[in-house]
Order: sequence, then structure tokens, then C-alpha cells
Amino acid sequence: MTDPTRAAAFDLLTTVLDRGRPIEEALDALPPIDPRDRAAAHRLAASVLRRLGTLDAVMEPFLTKRPPVPVRHVLRLGAAALLLLDAPAHAAVATAVDLARAKGLAPFTGLVNAVLRRIAAGGAAALAELDAPRLDTPSWLWSAWGRDARAIATAHQQEAAIDLTLASGFEAPENGVELPTGSWRYPPGTRVADLAGFAEGGFWVQDAAAALPGRMLAAQAGEVVADLCAAPGGKTAQLAASGARVIAVERDAKRIDRLRENLARLGMTPEVVHADATTWQPPALLDAVLLDAPCSATGTIRRHPDVVHIKRASDIGALNKLQDKLLDAACAMLRPGGRLVYAVCSLLPAEGAARIDAALTRLPLRLVPIPADGYGVPEAVTADGTLRTTPALWPDRGGMDGFFAARLERV
Ligand code: SAM
Repeated sequence: MTDPTRAAAFDLLTTVLDRGRPIEEALDALPPIDPRDRAAAHRLAASVLRRLGTLDAVMEPFLTKRPPVPVRHVLRLGAAALLLLDAPAHAAVATAVDLARAKGLAPFTGLVNAVLRRIAAGGAAALAELDAPRLDTPSWLWSAWGRDARAIATAHQQEAAIDLTLASGFEAPENGVELPTGSWRYPPGTRVADLAGFAEGGFWVQDAAAALPGRMLAAQAGEVVADLCAAPGGKTAQLAASGARVIAVERDAKRIDRLRENLARLGMTPEVVHADATTWQPPALLDAVLLDAPCSATGTIRRHPDVVHIKRASDIGALNKLQDKLLDAACAMLRPGGRLVYAVCSLLPAEGAARIDAALTRLPLRLVPIPADGYGVPEAVTADGTLRTTPALWPDRGGMDGFFAARLERV
């Protein structure tokens, strides 16, 4: 009988690696299975995606010729179970052989059995010899991250913790650790819906770094502010908690449903507008705008290891065009004295500092940069006053997502 976890993990790998689709979409497309099997399949597939370069390099010497892609997926799942998840050798090999048979790969069961037995015997020693951070990072990202590349890629080897932002008046659920930025941290894999206070809207999930751009905007009660790319709503919730009047703009119909659900759970009632922020016009000029622009999301790889396999260097040009259009629209919404925070969950200079430099020379408005404060991570403030968090910050606490954020004021 095929193990439902392995069968589902195989389908997840196929969708991400062969069709270039996000793992979230692959999870939505799985046939109905027990939620625990689904969670275990997600974890197993994510371990393969996180360490794909290393797993392939461990396997390489044991293969005399390149097996078909589905066989490689079976081998990768077996190798991850053995080397990363400490599964007992006999069970890991037998489950992989069953999976190969169930996926119509019967002629390869002998190969799967032989290769995985050899990995069970000598794989851990081979793994220890490899330069895992380099093998698990595509060259285009490694060069774009410059001298931070090794530290960032090393941090990506570990699964990310779960961070929460607390709603005002609520206490943190048990077993969390308060971070210097005010977020609360829980172990990787924590099921947030099971934490005390979830149903009551006591918190929302938000990486510690993702909570900083909202704080940088410093929205005040009585102000009118727009959150231009709002779903799923972590930053909208922060802005709404400040007492400002918030207008949340989102283009994607499916994501706007999630935004509404999240805000309803939190008992928050900002105005939600289904529109394209490049053409949407606010009712009057605004006090502040948060532009959390669509980007490569390559700052969130430790949380979303599928990103490494579905994003390409060639995607960045089109994203830059959209980021520029959104920046133009966002700046035109500001009243004199109004503030803009531009943020991306990416450490590619082309999506961060280069977009702000281009906007400052392109736009006819007078805009001046306002330096970031420390917000509990002074090491994330750059010499030019922008914010740059990386997964390599806070190594003893488990890192944080990679974000770039800059604040401008319309004079
Ligand atoms: N700010 C969100 C949060 O903190 O939860 C995350 C935003 S995510 C980085 C970017 C969002 O921008 C996506 O939901 C995407 O659908 C939306 N988006 C992309 N292009 C847009 C546009 N032209 N107008 C409005 N929303 C857009």
C-alpha cells in the first residue's frame, strides 16, 4: 500500500519542479486526504525543495545514468526522508519502492531500492562533505546577493519559525518568545489555528521583518492611509490597529477573499477596495501610503523554498516595470507632507534601492527620503537610511525574512 504522505509529496514536487507552479497551488490541488498526512507531505516536499541541489549531489555518484524525472522525484523524497528527516532506513527504502510502483514506475523499483540503500549507508558522510548553501542556491541569486550570499544561503538551510503580531489588548499564546521588535516567535511547524486566542482575533501571523514596514509608516489615529497591495492583510491589520482610517486596495479577487476573512477574524473593518492600484484614485490626497509591492519574494525562501525553483532572473524586468508604475501611482496619491513606505520581500537591489533611486530621478514631485529608525533591529538600518533585513540577522534567534523598505516624504 502506498503511503499517502509520500504520494502527496510526490504530487507537490511534480507541480513545483515540472510545472513551475507555487506549492500553495499544488496543496490546493491535492485530492482530499487526512490533514495530518497533508501537513506531513508539505513538510517532506518542502525539505526536498529546500535542499534539492544537495540531495541531487549526494545521489549523483550512485547513478550510472540519468533516470527519468519522476524516478528522480521518488529518489529525492527517499533521500530527504533518510538524510534530513531521520526516517529509519528500512522503512524509507520500502516506502520509496512502493511509491515508484504506485506511480507507474515499476521498471525502476530495483534502481530505487539499490540507490536508496547506498544512500542509507553512506549518504550522511557524503552530505557532510558538500557545500550545501552554494548547491542549494541558484547562481543568479548568489551573485545578486553579493557579499551576503553565503550567510543568507546558510540561513535558508533551516525551516523558519512562526512569528505573530499581537492585536492590542491580547496576551501572547503560551510557549512563545518575545522578539526585540515586539513580534512573538513560536517553533517552526506550529499550528496557529490551535493557539489560544486565534478564533478571538488575538493575533495574526507575520514574520518579524514583515512587521517593520508598517511600523515605518507610523500611521496615526485620524490619518487617512492606503495599503496598496494589501492581501492577505498582515500590514493592513497593523495600520488599522493604529486607529488611522485605512483603505486596503487589492487586485486579485481570490486573495481579496482571504484579506476579508483575515480582517473579519480580527474584528477589523477597514475599507477594502478591489482595484488595480496603478489606476485606482483615492477620494482625496492621502496622509500616508504603504506600497508592499509584488516582487520575486526571494527574501522569503526559508519560509517558501518553492520560490527558488519557480522564479527566474528573467522575471525581474517585468516586476521592475510594475513596481515603477505602482510607485508613480502611490506618490501621486500623497498630500504635501504625506509619507510613503515602499517595501519588497526581496534582497535583490534591482527590486529595492534601484527602484527608489529611479523614482527619485523620474518623478516630477519633490520627494525626500526619511531615514528608518531601528525598531529593535538597528543592524537592519543601512547607511542611506533604508531598512534591509536578511535571514542571516539574529542567527541565535532563528533569523527573519529578507525585506527592503524605504520611506519618502512629499515636500
Ligand atoms: N501587504 C500584504 C501583507 O502584508 O499581507 C502582502 C502583499 S503581497 C507582497 C503583494 C500583493 O499585491 C498581492 O496580493 C497581489 O495580488 C497584489 N497586487 C499585485 N499587483 C497589484 C496591483 N496592480 N494593484 C493592487 N494589488 C496588486
